[in-house]
Amino acid sequence: MNNINTYPLIDSHCHFDFPQFDGKRQQLWQQARAVGVEQLIIPAIGQANFARVQRLCQQQKHWHPAYALHPMFTHQREDLQSLSAFLEQDAIAVGECGLDYVSNSQDKKQQQYYFAAQLELAQHYQLPVIIHARKAVEEVLLAIAQRANIRGVIHSFSGSLQQAERALSLGFKLGLGGPMSYPRAKRLRSLFQHLPLSAWLLETDAPDQPLHGYQGQINHPAQIHLLLETAAQLRSESRAELAAQFYQNSCQLFGLEPLQPQAPI
Ligand SMILES: [Zn+2]
Repeated sequence: MNNINTYPLIDSHCHFDFPQFDGKRQQLWQQARAVGVEQLIIPAIGQANFARVQRLCQQQKHWHPAYALHPMFTHQREDLQSLSAFLEQDAIAVGECGLDYVSNSQDKKQQQYYFAAQLELAQHYQLPVIIHARKAVEEVLLAIAQRANIRGVIHSFSGSLQQAERALSLGFKLGLGGPMSYPRAKRLRSLFQHLPLSAWLLETDAPDQPLHGYQGQINHPAQIHLLLETAAQLRSESRAELAAQFYQNSCQLFGLEPLQPQAPI
């Protein structure tokens, strides 16, 4: 039907449990498979969706669960116990947690409390962390620098070159998604061109962060192949090299096994 050359890809950050996907999840997954997406990481955002994320991932072995309390939502202290119980079962990461100083829905002290508690859980279970940092990259870097044996990804990275280099030196990777597709994203594009490829994980953050040209639409995991296209326009490496490096980065951070090469559907 089309001539897309597909390369195996992992969407390292996709909220595929969200209700926007109800009734079309399988169809969108087939669409994603058709453009090379092999695996998804589904980060939960609060106690209310832990069981749902777990159930979905039990039904589909190429989907992997992460659990955490997202900084934009309200949580109870007991939610940390529930989180700990889920992390002990089948989590591949603690995520999505972090600090969001743009949103006013949660005060900073509360956010800092939950973030610190979740970094401790990540240390305890020796799991990588998927971090959300909006207008809080500096605070996030300070928090992870204070702890030993923390690794993970700063999702949808929006910091400076100097902050990116510090994140890398602390054993973190950087999430690269829809914002890169906007020509006005000069700083992010320049970071992507200058940092080593080993720094980056591809992610959609679906259903959020639609790509350039798709504003107002629900983002979904098949769109990740368009991110690979943008990446190839910005770097000198081939699509195959870029895809292989992104794939390897996700596998390495989250302890995933590469699947066998698949024929396009
Ligand atoms: Zn997210």
